[in-house]
Amino acid sequence: MTTIRSPASTPWRRRATAGAALAALLAALGAAPAAAQQPPAARGLPSLGDAGEMTTLEERKLGDAIIRELYRDPDYIDDPIVGEYVDGLWRALLDGARARGELPPELDERYAWRVLLGRDRSINAFALPGGYFGLHLGLVGVVSSRAELASVLAHELSHITQRHIPRLLGQEKRQTPLMMAALVAGMIAASKNPQAGAALAVGGQAAVIQQQLNFSRDMEREADRIGYGILVQAGFDGQGFVSMFEKLQGATRINDNGDWPYLRSHPLTTQRIGDMQQRAQALPRGGSQAASAPREAAERGGPADLEALLVAARARVLGRPGVDVLRAWAGEPSQPGFADRPLAPRAGALYAAALAQAQLRDLPRAQALATQLALAVAGDARAARQARLLQAELALQAGQPARTLELLGAPADRPARADGASQAGRAALLLRAQAQTASGQAAQAADALQVWVSDHPRDAGAWQALAQAQAAQGQTLRALRAEGEVPMAQLDYAGAVDRWRAAQDFSRRAPGGAADLIEASIVDTRLRQAQALLQQQRLDEQKRR
Ligand SMILES: [Zn+2]
Repeated sequence: MTTIRSPASTPWRRRATAGAALAALLAALGAAPAAAQQPPAARGLPSLGDAGEMTTLEERKLGDAIIRELYRDPDYIDDPIVGEYVDGLWRALLDGARARGELPPELDERYAWRVLLGRDRSINAFALPGGYFGLHLGLVGVVSSRAELASVLAHELSHITQRHIPRLLGQEKRQTPLMMAALVAGMIAASKNPQAGAALAVGGQAAVIQQQLNFSRDMEREADRIGYGILVQAGFDGQGFVSMFEKLQGATRINDNGDWPYLRSHPLTTQRIGDMQQRAQALPRGGSQAASAPREAAERGGPADLEALLVAARARVLGRPGVDVLRAWAGEPSQPGFADRPLAPRAGALYAAALAQAQLRDLPRAQALATQLALAVAGDARAARQARLLQAELALQAGQPARTLELLGAPADRPARADGASQAGRAALLLRAQAQTASGQAAQAADALQVWVSDHPRDAGAWQALAQAQAAQGQTLRALRAEGEVPMAQLDYAGAVDRWRAAQDFSRRAPGGAADLIEASIVDTRLRQAQALLQQQRLDEQKRR
């Protein structure tokens, strides 16, 4: 959707309250006392009181109910650039898990396997029921290599493939009221404690739920072990796990505030550290990939993971650090001796400075800094691509769509895999489509986006861009249809019904040609589907009252 949002431009911003989060969780768990009397089949949702483990379908439904709230959290962010980067790591890890037999077909098919980004400066990542994951920009902002970030994702992924959440809920089944009481207490405490407030800021409710769903130490060690295997299988440097541990260890020593919730949910026990050191010693020396070389190599002057450093810089700026910090970052390249700094820190500082200038509304300076960055990293293909995407984004913001198109060049071929697995090229696609729409080429934008959404029907950002491209061509009915797909993709059925009713009204008032007849019948079908899902959702909620 939008690539940059300043705090001032988020009027829809609202604080997620502990009460709302709790209501959502209780609703999702079907935990109201009256509901507990009914057989689970009548509610169609997981019941903690049942004997045995939650089924995969129940877990997915629980995850959907949580994620529906998370999508509406003001701190949920769909940043195409950070998102595409994270997704690239994520897809590689999923492939690695499949190759190792860690991802049974049933889980593969039934779970969502989606990572949602939260615009929060605290360092956190968490797994949710049903294969959903939360990742804070704060964590992306402190990693120095793809392998470090991938190691955290691999660990969280393993919590889900090992079915730790249903195992945990299964253990609690005889203490359901106690667990619920603990959840209430935990959320109230979190909402009143300013330090824990950081955890509430993004996907806060999910983070708090996660804190209450504390995995056992054995589960943590298992997630380390399985996650390590997946990481290496996926082609990442196993040292990334070790350097991430070192980073967390360093933070444990110096940082005892609320900025590192990941440490609270993942205490670094001596046993975890010992296990990981053993694995690291078994690693072949000098066999690390240049693309995932750890920070230590960069400090020794070895090959740094420039792309990871640029994406980290972006995540830090998007994390709303405040105007004073933005100004400091924007001024960094003007400091004496800046040009003599090693490439890695210089490139990260240039990226942060360019994006900070853009947030401070000085686009000419932002663009000059981005050009400086592009020249500095021209020798590194991945980093050069990141610099080009930044230049394209800034040109669009500066009202130079032709320049954006020039920077992005011709679209890459459509990915061979049409299974919706690949997100490669999404950032360029969305930037290009916006630039085309802004420069009278909305038809081309719509064509490219149509192809994309047919492969990625749950890509709300692409549907939004498509609606804009269609509206720019005066195709109101099509634009309304695409607009309805935005809430639909985020499981907001009421929102979808609202847009598609408007589309129906429009087509009755202004019946068009044959093409509009087809579109109108698509709208009818989608409206009925959304209404059925909404009705089911309301039935489930009523039954629980
Ligand atoms: Zn864990």
